[in-house]
Amino acid sequence: MLPYTARGAVWLIVYLLFILAPLFALLGGSLPPARDFWTEFSVAIGYSGLAMMGLQFGLTARFRHVTEPWGEDVIYHFHRQISSIAVGLVIAHPLILFIVRPELLALLNSLQAPWRARFAALSTYSLIALVVMALWRQKLRIQYETWHLTHILLAVVAVAAGILHMVGWGFYLIDPWKRALWIGLTFFWIGLLLYVRIVKPLFLLRRPYRVAEVRKERGDTWTLVMQPDGHAGFRFSPGQFGWLTLWGSPFKITGHPFSFSSSANASDGRVEMSIRELGDFTSKIHQVPVGQRVYLDGPYGAFTSGNPTDMHVLIAGGVGVTPMMSLIRTFADRGDKRPVILLYGSRDWESITFREELEALKARLDLTIVHVLSNPPVDWTGEQGFITAELLRRHLPPPFGEHEYFICGPNVMMDAIERTLSDMNVPLAKYHSERYSFV
Ligand SMILES: Cc1cc2nc3c(=O)[nH]c(=O)nc-3n(C[C@H](O)[C@H](O)[C@H](O)COP(=O)(O)OP(=O)(O)OC[C@H]3O[C@@H](n4cnc5c(N)ncnc54)[C@H](O)[C@@H]3O)c2cc1C
Repeated sequence: MLPYTARGAVWLIVYLLFILAPLFALLGGSLPPARDFWTEFSVAIGYSGLAMMGLQFGLTARFRHVTEPWGEDVIYHFHRQISSIAVGLVIAHPLILFIVRPELLALLNSLQAPWRARFAALSTYSLIALVVMALWRQKLRIQYETWHLTHILLAVVAVAAGILHMVGWGFYLIDPWKRALWIGLTFFWIGLLLYVRIVKPLFLLRRPYRVAEVRKERGDTWTLVMQPDGHAGFRFSPGQFGWLTLWGSPFKITGHPFSFSSSANASDGRVEMSIRELGDFTSKIHQVPVGQRVYLDGPYGAFTSGNPTDMHVLIAGGVGVTPMMSLIRTFADRGDKRPVILLYGSRDWESITFREELEALKARLDLTIVHVLSNPPVDWTGEQGFITAELLRRHLPPPFGEHEYFICGPNVMMDAIERTLSDMNVPLAKYHSERYSFV
């Protein structure tokens, strides 16, 4: 198996090939009469934008081999960034045309415009709606599930209408092989969508799990213990996560991501997820009856233990402790003798999730726990406030660059700690971050 960096590079080349090859192919074979530079340029960026949009279905298809070298959050970050570029290109395409050939503005009148222009307008308006909803979902108070469904529908409409516009115009598609290439590409994009929405759910349907226990934890958190039903389950690395479908079938549009909190060494395929009450889905976890059939898609993520020569430094804020719990439980089960330090920020003493078990785990491995409370009791003598640069320097032995760091918690905490580690000259390859907000 190739190392992660080499695999990452291979996938990047494949990605660029899918974007650029169809564009360059248009320049081969028979060519239509040449037009002015800006018209040709606008057409080129329109084609590129469309190819990039189509490939977004692949980026979000959760292909484990593709996402493994980077981790899911980086892929979603890339998805967002590349979407902005693609939408920019698609919108720039008509804008340039309107500037260099103002007579084309008449095509904006969708009542009289030919179908190929109507499709162009539909594609562009869908893209604008998609971007507005993605950027301002929380401000617009759109429920996550509603947004997700609309996001998929708008993306399908935007790409389908874009293709119909392109084929309707057909300016560069004179040769049958060029038409075949673009039609093939379109089928490939549709195939990606069918894979995510039909093939994968069918696979999950045949590999259900049963809830074996629902355990109350400190800090408004519930642990779901899930047992594979009629199959061996999957193996995961500590720190990874899965997509959980609780109510309904795996064909449901929206699954919810949760880190595995159990040891990766469990031999019977059992997995645990520890879930904090936050919104409509997470607040109903305590109602899940034992024996309920659930579906797990996983494992995903690159937030997995490294192989440091000296120690693991785990920095958790609130529910960000769940992947750390999996790491610590796994280290204990594997008899790992390397020191582990857990810097753990919580609201108050009573809401420290896994407090007692963490204390007990000290007997099984070289574990130091530093609790940092933002709302400490009056007689508290430990750390208080937030995990800061000074706090890190106080508790970590030098050389800081030798340790392997894992950070998971609220975004503000993670940003601050990443900046601090960079100031402490910890190389980027030595720290791993898991963000609980893809969107
Ligand atoms: C990789 C990863 C691992 C996670 N691990 C844990 C964990 O171990 N324990 C835990 O308690 N929480 C974890 N979360 C967060 C958890 O997924 C969300 O809190 C949960 O999905 C919120 O659902 P809700 O409907 O109850 O809340 P809502 O109020 O509907 O949503 C709150 C916010 O959570 C995000 N969100 C909601 N639904 C989804 C979804 N289906 N997919 C992605 N994001 C969503 C949105 O940003 C939303 O604004 C993890 C998130 C990620 C990305």
